[in-house]
Amino acid sequence: MFVDESRLHIAIQKSGRLSDYSRGLLRDAGLRIQNGKNDLTARVENFPADLMFVRDDDIPTFVSDGVCEFGIVGENVLQEFALGDLEPRFEILARLGFGRCSLRIAAPEAVAYDGPATLQGGRIATSYPRIVRRFLDDNCIEATVVKMNGAVELAPRLQIASFVCDLVSTGATLEANGLRPVETVLESEAVLIRTSRPMADTKAEQASRLVSRIDGVLATKESKYIMLNAPSEALQEITAILPGAEAPTILPLHGRPGHFAVHAVCQESVFWETLQKLKGAGASAILVLPIEKMMM
Ligand code: ATP
Ligand code: ZN
Repeated sequence: MFVDESRLHIAIQKSGRLSDYSRGLLRDAGLRIQNGKNDLTARVENFPADLMFVRDDDIPTFVSDGVCEFGIVGENVLQEFALGDLEPRFEILARLGFGRCSLRIAAPEAVAYDGPATLQGGRIATSYPRIVRRFLDDNCIEATVVKMNGAVELAPRLQIASFVCDLVSTGATLEANGLRPVETVLESEAVLIRTSRPMADTKAEQASRLVSRIDGVLATKESKYIMLNAPSEALQEITAILPGAEAPTILPLHGRPGHFAVHAVCQESVFWETLQKLKGAGASAILVLPIEKMMM
């Protein structure tokens, strides 16, 4: 792989469950990505960065080695990597809110399950042997962990193992194979990671620019701008109701003595119930606006 030293390198999954979301996040951060899904790399036209499209399993290695300064990967893959022998050199900068799934131990329908002790002396098939081993150690259970790279849910039927530990979102795949989840080992979502290897000054500057843009995107996802009018006696109650708002702006209304306009950025979702509460407290002309960009 050709690596241009003056540009940042961001590793994202080439094709799979995280690819579209990862591209979407970078696009929302203002990065214009040249098209061509089948290439190994893509140049960002308006930012000194190149994207590397790789298998998700390789992303922690690339970032830890410093081949890529940034990566977007599931916590499941990241933890499995970090529990390996290598000295991992990355930092988790943000949880991204997509790629949610849980790593669960499942048992055949016919097996009675009564807590981790049921696993004692058993065999568990998984693609995440280190995470499963840690779970067993934490629970003082001795069991054999069988590593499989795919089709883990077939293991009981093939008599490779009596239990499996696999990623689950709906549970439909497990059910189709006569299995039911019995333990949650890890709740996972996609995270943004940065290498802990030192970067040259100009690169480090670009890196922090990128991070603050991504933080901005993540902040705007939930945030809303609220505007409303209220009489002075209602201001205290109203500002207490505003969800996740710090220091709202309060401006006198021209021609209406004792009345004020309240403007606030709310960092949490604003529901109809909240609006009703605000109205009940004396607010009127309530507007909730989406925020397009934000830099803290
Ligand atoms: P690659 O070719 O990149 O190795 P993969 O087959 O390992 O792809 P995907 O199935 O695309 O990976 O899943 C990528 C990540 O998406 C998972 O590691 C996990 O973090 C997340 N994910 C979210 N929901 C699920 C799910 N139901 N099953 C599996 N992974 C999920
Ligand atoms: Zn993978």
